[in-house]
Amino acid sequence: MKTGQGLPDVSEADVVLIGAGIMSATLGMMLKELQPDLRITVLERLDEAAAESSDAWNNAGTGHAAFCELNYTPEKADGTIDTSKAVSIAESFEISRQFWAYLIQEDHIKIPENFIRSIPHMSFVWGDANVEFLKKRHAALTKCHLFEGMEYSEDCEQLKSWIPLVMEGRDLLEKVAATRMDLGTDVNFGALTRCMFEQLSKMEGVQLHFGYDVRRLKQRPDNRWSVRVRHRETRVNHKVRANFVFIGAGGGALPLLLKSGIPEGKGFGGFPVSGQWLKCTNPDVVEQHQAKVYGKASVGSPPMSVPHLDTRFINGKRELLFGPYAGFTTKFLKNGSFFDLPLSLKVNNLHPMLSAGVKNMPLTQYLINQVRQSPDERVEALRQYYPEARGEDWKLEVAGQRVQVIKKGPKGGGVLEFGTEIVAGADGSLAALLGASPGASTAVSIMISLLDRCFPEKMQSEAWQKKLKEMIPSYGESLAKDAELLRKVRSWTSEVLGLQNTVRNEV
Ligand SMILES: Cc1cc2nc3c(=O)[nH]c(=O)nc-3n(C[C@H](O)[C@H](O)[C@H](O)COP(=O)(O)OP(=O)(O)OC[C@H]3O[C@@H](n4cnc5c(N)ncnc54)[C@H](O)[C@@H]3O)c2cc1C
Repeated sequence: MKTGQGLPDVSEADVVLIGAGIMSATLGMMLKELQPDLRITVLERLDEAAAESSDAWNNAGTGHAAFCELNYTPEKADGTIDTSKAVSIAESFEISRQFWAYLIQEDHIKIPENFIRSIPHMSFVWGDANVEFLKKRHAALTKCHLFEGMEYSEDCEQLKSWIPLVMEGRDLLEKVAATRMDLGTDVNFGALTRCMFEQLSKMEGVQLHFGYDVRRLKQRPDNRWSVRVRHRETRVNHKVRANFVFIGAGGGALPLLLKSGIPEGKGFGGFPVSGQWLKCTNPDVVEQHQAKVYGKASVGSPPMSVPHLDTRFINGKRELLFGPYAGFTTKFLKNGSFFDLPLSLKVNNLHPMLSAGVKNMPLTQYLINQVRQSPDERVEALRQYYPEARGEDWKLEVAGQRVQVIKKGPKGGGVLEFGTEIVAGADGSLAALLGASPGASTAVSIMISLLDRCFPEKMQSEAWQKKLKEMIPSYGESLAKDAELLRKVRSWTSEVLGLQNTVRNEV
């Protein structure tokens, strides 16, 4: 990958993208498609792209489409299921698929080997109340064509054929149930990100610089931004001036947003959550599982710690992972510093941070307990999903970091959020992305929202509208309302991405 010639003391760009994760890659590709003459500089503190949350081993690789994630369909007080979030996430994932298919079809990216693969997405529950919930969820979701083809079963023989590892050796005194959606996917977001940067690096006007830590951001009197960076090895400082800055620094976005001094960023804080997986080292076991099986979060645990037993495809190899086991840390990045959290405390966010901390003591306690789990306790948790699991077949691996958003609540205290949040300056010259859920799967929709906020006039222009429609054929229309359009775009993206388009067909 061409990485620029090293930064001069002072350089100029139209756009600076901070961080070489999937968000910056997506925004960079979209901007270059919309306006090919843009000069874009990418600044990344590590030596390669996608080495933090976007790397395949650091996230779960689930193409989040709300097929299996039970936390996207909460039960309302009246006992009915709220499907609004699930519908919006399913639609967002279809938008990502279209953009990826466009990039491949137009030969803008070479298909990274199997970066996306079909794998059934399943939800699995036990106990009367959970079975009842799953049944209602299935009935509610399948009213919408986005979830057409989702199967439901309480039949043990059927479940055994779908998920033998989950069923064998299970005490069947309790009721069990599962849903299965064959249109689910596993995505190697790291491979996709690196591929997009590879392409960006070949484009006229794009400079990628690795090993440069962004330290400061200052808006100049002419409204342009001066981005101060330091080379991590030589310790030499440089400045890049730009009209627009995107802080796509993942967990590192919050400190940079606070440093930018934009009023919109004041009061934001972050709550870091670490993660670990158990990775299966026994190929015979790996071969016996062919699904992503999501369970229900235990009471009091955060939504991102919903356990799942996942078939993955990483670097051409099939893998089996269980987790994540969430944990508490003060680092904002996997390759970050233990001072990240304390250094992010500012006068304007101290109150929201402390108040969110106090309100969420049970969560903090839960995370600390998770970190303290012994290897045997971790295997015990795995046995809830794979009763015959043997500890010696599994190895602990460290996953990526998430920094959950803390923002000022209506009464001045702090509120902990589990979604993503775009924070943009009023003049649209700077935007940051905070939070990490549903994450990489919805990167394209997130970046469209960002473009709407920061480039409103250009987004309304005929040229950009036309290009957007070319990149995302469903742009401006509702896939949740238009079944025929969904059928068309699903069939096109399935063909280009090499995915299954019809229900039931063994992977
Ligand atoms: C355990 C876990 C499981 C997940 N599972 C899924 C999943 O199944 N499906 C899904 O869609 N999403 C999932 N996600 C979320 C997804 O991984 C993230 O939303 C996505 O990768 C974020 O991309 P990003 O580009 O914002 O950040 P990152 O990929 O973290 O990239 C940010 C980059 O910015 C760089 N950086 C930071 N600070 C600076 C600085 N000061 N100067 C220069 N560079 C800097 C970092 O080094 C990094 O390379 C998961 C996340 C985690 C942690």
